[in-house]
Amino acid sequence: MDLATPATAEQLRTEVREFITAHVPKDWAGEGSLAPAAIQRFRAEWREALVAAHLLAPHWPAAYGGRGLGPIEYSIVVEEFVAAGVPQYPAPNDGIGISLLGPAVLAWGTEEQKQRLLPATLSGEIRWAQGYSEPEAGSDLFGLKTRAEPADGGFVLNGQKIWQTAGLTANWIFALVRTNPEVRKSRGLTFLVAELDQPGVEVHGIRNLNGEPEFCEVFFRDAYASADNVIGEVGNGAKVALTLLGHERGANGLSLALASRIEIDRLGKLVAGRGLASDDEIRRRLGKLAADVEIQRAFALWLLGATANSAEVGPLSSIVKLRVSQHRQRVHELAIDVLGTAVNDLHGEPGPEILRAQPRGTDPLATNVWARDFLFARAGTIYGGSEQIQKNTIGEQVLGLPREPAAGPGA
Ligand SMILES: Cc1cc2nc3c(=O)[nH]c(=O)nc-3n(C[C@H](O)[C@H](O)[C@H](O)COP(=O)(O)OP(=O)(O)OC[C@H]3O[C@@H](n4cnc5c(N)ncnc54)[C@H](O)[C@@H]3O)c2cc1C
Repeated sequence: MDLATPATAEQLRTEVREFITAHVPKDWAGEGSLAPAAIQRFRAEWREALVAAHLLAPHWPAAYGGRGLGPIEYSIVVEEFVAAGVPQYPAPNDGIGISLLGPAVLAWGTEEQKQRLLPATLSGEIRWAQGYSEPEAGSDLFGLKTRAEPADGGFVLNGQKIWQTAGLTANWIFALVRTNPEVRKSRGLTFLVAELDQPGVEVHGIRNLNGEPEFCEVFFRDAYASADNVIGEVGNGAKVALTLLGHERGANGLSLALASRIEIDRLGKLVAGRGLASDDEIRRRLGKLAADVEIQRAFALWLLGATANSAEVGPLSSIVKLRVSQHRQRVHELAIDVLGTAVNDLHGEPGPEILRAQPRGTDPLATNVWARDFLFARAGTIYGGSEQIQKNTIGEQVLGLPREPAAGPGA
């Protein structure tokens, strides 16, 4: 496969570098070097600049606020952002709206829905939460129970969703709901969007292992979604949900690999700073992690080529999800071993990112950020489908192994 970037892509790289230089403060050392209040200020201004330049979702068509970039060009933009230490998604709900809902609406939505939902997501008027999981339906997603019953030109919603990331700052939710309990479980599902700010919806925050209100639970009690808020037709929700999950698991493999490389450099500085650069066992673990990042990057490049002409990332995305989440846990296990009892002395800023590598500029010796990310990394093998579910997907849908036996009647 020829992965040489065309001349237009290299022009884009230059343009993006100039854009970054024009919009970061003088003597920029990466977002990780800023204090928390300065990060908030910078993110608000940076987001406005991205929207104006059509760089917040450059892979969306120009008609909806993007630039219609193909996957290779898009990855150039994202790589430049990571290398410069500027955020791709500056606001808490951006990743959910832009990298999850956006591709699903583009693949399954009507023209009216694209016009109504996509530009409003970029402007920040609509801030999304993902309503898939329920208390008894996480891995068994298609066993979910939240009901949507036809009424008044739309649907009345009853049930509960849980673990909505950034749910407290969201004002809309995209949800997988049951519209027909009579048919086989995946066939009775519908994908729809609904406003959170309406009577009949209650949102409660949940604190994570770090003590932060990272996610929430959402209760529907006779809430309403109009019929024009169904994406991809009634009864077709499982297919829409899988399109979205492919993007959730495999999105941005290249930028994740680059961010992981920056994180490994920071880990190397921690090792040196703790006087362990000559320790054979630590060096062996660090070297293995550095090699792993190169494998991730090579696989991400291969996947980009393999899926370049398709709207679906599909089951191959589970390989990205599995490798990246396991890698991050090993990185932070090593960091905690290197710190030893020093991890009890928390100091330095905690870092602006959650669930992913901190940006360039983050202090390698700040214990707070390593301790917090160690805990966040535990979640990597749960969200977006657990490690075991990714292994099942790879076994059954990539390698063609026999399917896992069904759990019981109706499965
Ligand atoms: C940080 C974070 C953010 C999240 N954000 C969101 C969000 O924004 N929106 C949303 O809807 N959800 C979100 N989730 C929920 C997430 O999708 C679920 O936690 C996940 O799918 C697992 O479901 P569960 O927690 O119900 O665990 P369960 O499904 O109960 O699984 C429990 C254990 O059993 C194993 N298991 C289950 N079934 C099988 C099987 N068939 N084969 C082998 N092993 C199996 C699992 O691997 C796991 O180890 C988030 C979760 C986390 C941790």
